Amino acid sequence: MNRDSRKHKGINTRLAHSGHDPHGYFGFVNPPVVHASTVLFPNAATMESRNQKYVYGTRGTPTSDALAEAIDELEGSAGTIIVPSGLAAVTIPLLAFLSARDHILIVDSVYHPTRHFADTMLKRLGVEVEYYDPHAGAEIAALIKENTRVVFTESPGSNTFEMQDIPAIARAAKARGAVVMMDNTWATPIHFRPLEHGVDISIHAATKYPAGHSDVLLGTVSANEAAWGQLHETHIAMGCCAAPDDVYQVLRGLRTMGVRLDRHEANALELARWLEGQPGVARVLHPALPGFPGHNLWKRDFSGASGIFSIVLDGGGREAAHAFLDALEIFGLGYSWGGYESLAVHVFLGDRTIAPVPQEGPVMRLQIGLEDVADLKADLDEALKAARAASS
Ligand SMILES: *Cc1c(COP(=O)(O)O)cnc(C)c1O
Repeated sequence: MNRDSRKHKGINTRLAHSGHDPHGYFGFVNPPVVHASTVLFPNAATMESRNQKYVYGTRGTPTSDALAEAIDELEGSAGTIIVPSGLAAVTIPLLAFLSARDHILIVDSVYHPTRHFADTMLKRLGVEVEYYDPHAGAEIAALIKENTRVVFTESPGSNTFEMQDIPAIARAAKARGAVVMMDNTWATPIHFRPLEHGVDISIHAATKYPAGHSDVLLGTVSANEAAWGQLHETHIAMGCCAAPDDVYQVLRGLRTMGVRLDRHEANALELARWLEGQPGVARVLHPALPGFPGHNLWKRDFSGASGIFSIVLDGGGREAAHAFLDALEIFGLGYSWGGYESLAVHVFLGDRTIAPVPQEGPVMRLQIGLEDVADLKADLDEALKAARAASS
């Protein structure tokens, strides 16, 4: 089955078969893991012209091509670069498109390390950095200036899950010639395809659901035809390539991402709905809940949800948050998400400059894993009791 005939197949068929043609490599189902710096040329003339498919390890191998082609197929992109972390997947495209005196608009609910990069490195390089309200839709036009080069989006936002009107923002940005980037880690290309909604560059921390096992760091950046040349050139210039074993692990993870994500979604939704009715919970921040502001945007643009959301505790401060975390037995206390196991974090929101932060109590982010949901519920029940005891 080739790429064209896969186009109209279901998502799980595409996840299972994109990115590698077994008959191009002796029939082996999976591609080889190519460890390479040097690539040999057959003669001096070829060495001079570099007229062969692979020329050096930093510029791609059959392993990295397999993953890049799979992601291109899922994102509908013209090209994909693979980098050593999700954060590198944010920083490389920003460096690719921004120059001194350019202006960038970044959503205020952005992943914190993206903000850190903008506030340190980009400012040092002379880029004018400005944050905007995640609920700005078409009105973002008023913030776009003569020198606005990039509009950076992330939907839903990190930790508080604000939904952005991506098509409206993309239309406004494109009308003024700005490049639109989106950190699409939460949805994965299964639930949202940014390039079909006017975005130029779609970013993933493949560390999360694509890898899926909390043991690999990787990032992917996919561009449309117009943005691909500049992105690819920067990737080569930076020498920021990923290691072959990690690339292979993510390709392996993609094969099962559909079934894993279904379970993450179902477990998370069941818990989110249950948590809405629990004493000690002021609010549940999950875009698939009908009462969540932005739910309509999620319903209009996304085909599903993943397994991470937050709850706002009803009162209490740091003590209640710590009591909640310390009472958990199945949920681990740790950063990142997308793995098979459940995790909880007391969220830091002190970096927000525009987006209002929940005031009722501490915000606890929950990554819902693949465990049995009844066990997770019992674990959260104990944690809520501990939080209530600590805040009364
Ligand atoms: C985790 C994350 C990243 C960074 O990924 P790493 O591989 O951990 O560097 C980027 N964006 C979002 C939205 C993330 O959640």
